[in-house]
Amino acid sequence: MMTTSLDTFIKAELAGIGLTVSVPVVGGFQEMRISPQQAERYLALPHAVQAELLGFTEAEFAEYGNSCGTVFCESATSKGKACRNNVAGRTLLSPDEWKKCKAEGGYCSAHGGS
Ligand SMILES: [Zn+2]
Repeated sequence: MMTTSLDTFIKAELAGIGLTVSVPVVGGFQEMRISPQQAERYLALPHAVQAELLGFTEAEFAEYGNSCGTVFCESATSKGKACRNNVAGRTLLSPDEWKKCKAEGGYCSAHGGS
């Protein structure tokens, strides 16, 4: 009988071998515990599992990483493009802070923010 990677991860877990991954966040990595099922999926789709561990969709995880944890101004420039200034104090945020600040939204100093 062929042993699947899931079987191996389950055996490891039962033997007391902790399954952890290093998830990239702003300023470094966050060590996170994963289940045998997540470990198996991690082999094929590491980003999807990393996003899930942080409570992000994959798109949010990419946006978080690409912006270095920054929340941008919700306003538009005079040319109608999205303003790319950051909201004061909303850079280098942790995943949880970024989610909270992103939901709150906000504006840069040029568009009425603080
Ligand atoms: Zn702005």
